[in-house]
Amino acid sequence: MLCEAEDLLKKAVTLADTVDILIIGGGIVGLTTALSLRQAGLGVTLLERGRCGREASWAGAGIIAPPDPTREDPLFHIHTASIERYPALCAELQELSGVDTEYAPCGAVDLLTTEQARLTAERNVEAAADQRTPAGEPILEMVSAERALSLEPKLAGDAPAYQLCRRTAVARNPRLLEALRLSCEKVGVVIREGTAVVAFLMAGDRLTGVRTTDGDHHANHTVLCAGAWSSQWAPPALAEMMPVHPVKGQIVLVRTDKAPISRVINMEGAYLVPRRDGHVLIGSTVEPEAGFDKRNTPKGVNTLITHALRMVPCLADAPIETMWAGLRPNSPDGQPFLGPVPGFDGLLAATAHFRSGLTTAPMTAEIIRDLVLTGDCAFDILWCKPGRSFGCQVHADAQ
Ligand SMILES: Cc1cc2nc3c(=O)[nH]c(=O)nc-3n(C[C@H](O)[C@H](O)[C@H](O)COP(=O)(O)OP(=O)(O)OC[C@H]3O[C@@H](n4cnc5c(N)ncnc54)[C@H](O)[C@@H]3O)c2cc1C
Repeated sequence: MLCEAEDLLKKAVTLADTVDILIIGGGIVGLTTALSLRQAGLGVTLLERGRCGREASWAGAGIIAPPDPTREDPLFHIHTASIERYPALCAELQELSGVDTEYAPCGAVDLLTTEQARLTAERNVEAAADQRTPAGEPILEMVSAERALSLEPKLAGDAPAYQLCRRTAVARNPRLLEALRLSCEKVGVVIREGTAVVAFLMAGDRLTGVRTTDGDHHANHTVLCAGAWSSQWAPPALAEMMPVHPVKGQIVLVRTDKAPISRVINMEGAYLVPRRDGHVLIGSTVEPEAGFDKRNTPKGVNTLITHALRMVPCLADAPIETMWAGLRPNSPDGQPFLGPVPGFDGLLAATAHFRSGLTTAPMTAEIIRDLVLTGDCAFDILWCKPGRSFGCQVHADAQ
């Protein structure tokens, strides 16, 4: 009799504690998704094992880059819609949180040092020929060395060809993450930091909640946004369906009185990003073989600095302020995992955004919100389906 009463009591407590949404992971994807779902009127609890916005989303360079215009998959549209959403998102976050994300539609100059790079750039210019800025200028354009130097006088100026991209923007991602966290709290998202998810709670095929280092949490829907760790503690069936692995990226930060560049500069996979206060980010390496090791290495740092000085030689005298590395979450085919997870009713995935998670988070959040609210969304997300087969390797944009 006593046991029965205890069981009933337990059940009642569990039901009362059930929230609409649990979000696992407080990076850019988890925070934008939490904000979007809460603004739609749902009760949202976000579980973060450390502190919000301190992993890949903090470590990234903050480039909001347009997708490769020759892409034909549906992610092209998600990516494009996401960069278009950024100015309004940053303005809204500033209003909610008081934090300036330093969003700036600064553009980018690509230094094309090989024949192959020039041919690719020309093909991209052609593919984007009908895309214009609000002022009517082409978003991509091949420019002469003279024009490149008139835009960015501190460039070395010895590249054989140059491309100007007018659609690239930047945001100072640590500030963006802080603005997101504060905005989430302001609208009523419950954020539990220092709470690591260690297991799923299942009732048959239904995910009813999660077990954490801080007790059990129950929800009608759970969204998995745990970045590079998304398949680390998950049940084997889930890890097999959506294998996520880390891809380390190192960055070096130098300080100048006034940044010698005003746009993002790209060359041979390396880039320079100016910050408003004179800092210049030098990024980034791509090291899938490093696993979960986040330490800087002489080889990585040397590569970055060598490229930086070839792009903008006057950086040679800029003091190195700090350096770091982060872990990009990636999938076997380079596409994210987005949407319902087969065999785990109530679970949605929003992870493995690899090199463009900062760029594509706003639209990821809207897709997850629409899936929760209506079971459908405005984009074809079949390509990102958890449980898809990984027959072909497709490319990934950006940083
Ligand atoms: C060097 C570098 C440069 C980059 N530059 C750019 C760029 O310029 N532009 C761009 O668009 N993208 C860039 N990226 C990629 C981008 O940073 C990532 O795609 C994006 O941050 C991924 O966001 P996320 O929220 O999925 O992951 P994360 O930011 O890693 O967040 C995942 C969170 O989940 C938490 N977590 C993990 N396991 C658990 C658990 N068991 N329980 C609770 N919480 C858990 C983690 O602590 C973490 O806070 C860059 C990445 C790197 C490393």
